Amino acid sequence: MKATIVSIGTELLFGQIVNTNAAWLSSELQVAGVDVLYHFTVGDNPERVRAILKRALDESDLVITTGGLGPTQDDLTKEIIAEVIDVPLIQDEKTIQELEAFFLRRGAPMTENNRKQALMPENAQVFYNPVGTAPGFLSEVGEKTIMALPGPPREMKALFDLWVRPWLNEKTQATIFYKILRFYGIGESALETKLLPIIEGQTDPTIATYAKDGECTVRVASKRAREEDAIYAVAETIEKIRELVGEYLYSTENMELHEVVAQKLIARSVTLSTAESCTGGMFADRLLSVPGMSASFLSGWIVYSNESKTELLGVSKELIEKKGSVSEDVAIAMATGARTRAQSDIAISVTGVAGPDGGSESKPIGGCWIAVASKGKISTFYFEARNLGRAYNRSVFTLAMLDVLNKTLDNKL
Ligand code: ATP
Ligand code: MG
Repeated sequence: MKATIVSIGTELLFGQIVNTNAAWLSSELQVAGVDVLYHFTVGDNPERVRAILKRALDESDLVITTGGLGPTQDDLTKEIIAEVIDVPLIQDEKTIQELEAFFLRRGAPMTENNRKQALMPENAQVFYNPVGTAPGFLSEVGEKTIMALPGPPREMKALFDLWVRPWLNEKTQATIFYKILRFYGIGESALETKLLPIIEGQTDPTIATYAKDGECTVRVASKRAREEDAIYAVAETIEKIRELVGEYLYSTENMELHEVVAQKLIARSVTLSTAESCTGGMFADRLLSVPGMSASFLSGWIVYSNESKTELLGVSKELIEKKGSVSEDVAIAMATGARTRAQSDIAISVTGVAGPDGGSESKPIGGCWIAVASKGKISTFYFEARNLGRAYNRSVFTLAMLDVLNKTLDNKL
């Protein structure tokens, strides 16, 4: 099946919003085995929307539009689709009832233009919308199909899951099952090279790699007639991947590293404290974004200046003068200082150079020392980022700390 995505909305052309809908839909369609031929983006202009829809229908089996389904004047998607496929718009009773109930619950009056949302092309299958007011729909045009989804990403995704995915499964007589694996400590090209023996010549499950600041993800997707076969095929491939690159794999459930670490800390009742210099609290913030961390996290210090390292954590002034604030010894003193003050099971510290200034031959920008103190044990790590700027450095320092803590919790370090 060949598909085209048509994103409708002038704000997309103005650059006010990024077209995340097209990217999301494309990736979902790709896993479903649908070839996406084009992304068209068009403003709220009837002639141009009409021309683009005609072309999209000419060249593909499935056209999915997003946006322009709302109640306002500039929302014209339905009118134009009805015109292009040559059917009248008629009122959908169930939508009217749902709208009335919605406004009653809100205690707000339903305005006349809201009724517009209940107009649907004749014979359309209505995609009722449990998370918003604008329903979408599907219309058959001969052998072809056109679907309209709302613009707000949350609603678009909900309607896709509820209506489009089952339709695709039915059409292709298959079920798609996939897992997203996450890796740390290996680049995308190295990961792909190591996976080549299973990527090459394999058509199902498909294996696709993606890279993101310091991390990689791999999607393993299988499309089979029976769901249990797809689930089994994915599990089998994950085992093969584990054999090749298991040391870098930290989640098979698409969890981020901070979520994995937080979950382990909470599940094992390990208490934690932090002492951060160059990351300015980013590490603590990341962990504390996970609900339930109050069971583990005791205290975190941001000790940016030399004085604060001494005053708040007892790092000796002489040590800082002798070794410099970015040094293994200061990282150790920060971690032990935090651990004794917070009385935590584990303390982790970081001190480094985030840039853009302050680097030197021996202390390059992008380098940091991390120390982990636990009962009777201290481990240290030197990590060097590629120095792609301050924001990048700070975020990969944070990831490096999470990796260190993750491996500490697994007794791998
Ligand atoms: P509404 O009922 O909210 O008006 P709609 O279907 O008419 O929904 P639009 O008016 O086109 O949709 O867009 C509503 C909002 O959805 C936009 O302001 C924007 O924030 C978001 N949005 C629309 N299209 C996209 C897109 N392609 N990618 C990401 N966000 C989008
Ligand atoms: Mg709108």
